[in-house]
Amino acid sequence: MNITKKATIFLTIVVGSLLLLAGCGTDNSSYDNDKLNVVTTNSIIWDITKNIAGDNVNLHSIVPVGKDPHEYELLPDDIVKATDADIVFYNGLNLETGGNAWFTKLMQNANKEENKDYFAVSEGVAPLYLEGKEEARKEDPHAWLNLENGIIYAQNIEKQLSEKDPENKAYYQENLANYVDKLKELDEEAKGKFDSIPANKKWIVTSEGCFKYFSEAYNIPSAYIWEINTEEEGTPNQIKNLVDKLRDTEVQSLFVESSVDDRPMKTISQETGIEIFSKVFTDSIAEEGEEGDSYYAMMKWNLDRIYDGLTNES
Ligand SMILES: [Zn+2]
Repeated sequence: MNITKKATIFLTIVVGSLLLLAGCGTDNSSYDNDKLNVVTTNSIIWDITKNIAGDNVNLHSIVPVGKDPHEYELLPDDIVKATDADIVFYNGLNLETGGNAWFTKLMQNANKEENKDYFAVSEGVAPLYLEGKEEARKEDPHAWLNLENGIIYAQNIEKQLSEKDPENKAYYQENLANYVDKLKELDEEAKGKFDSIPANKKWIVTSEGCFKYFSEAYNIPSAYIWEINTEEEGTPNQIKNLVDKLRDTEVQSLFVESSVDDRPMKTISQETGIEIFSKVFTDSIAEEGEEGDSYYAMMKWNLDRIYDGLTNES
């Protein structure tokens, strides 16, 4: 082996080792390509983002499908994913920052700044407020249950994606336009759908009082066992209040959310003789492949099932 050959082998080993070290550096990131890294707090925001971003971003959602986004126990992986994120989208309006304030802790741990790294997708929504004594004057988070607000969420998401990833701006804007058309069509169909139902039958009865925005948008009053999932759920007093309220109505269907314990609503059903007609999706989309597995599909499901329940003659 001559000197040139020995030098070449030596150099190959040195350069090779350096490349390996560099490779290890990249492996520390929780994402494996150079796409924009986007984290959402829950499955509804995840799905709206997916509709705008397509496959152009790495998309990770924190609270699992079917689980309650109001209160959540952080996993180590959530902190890693949030730390490496270019953008974090959260609902705001007292959703992830009420109760155990898990989102506030997450953003502190991940060293993220509001309106630079993380954004409330509800920015620009006209807030409604909670009614209970303890919670009064706090914002009600469930703005997405009015499709007009879902459109605002989609617009906010497009704006931030386009700002962080301007090369794909035209793509995001086109996806937004198509998606908004689809949501608008469903919204228009929903408005007026419930007009013919008599007032004493026209109540959406759920466990959590999460339908205020929906009630306002589609003109159907709502009643509930507890005000918001961060308070005690299904106390004897809460049960009694709803049973008393239902005595004065001709409501024939109760609904139960996919992301709460259904036992308090079963008690209401036993005490009033009113059947639980259907589950509804409020704080989560359905499992992939099931009906209601997108924001659009869960809203369509809710509108159809609530209409069927309120006009049920059995
Ligand atoms: Zn909720």
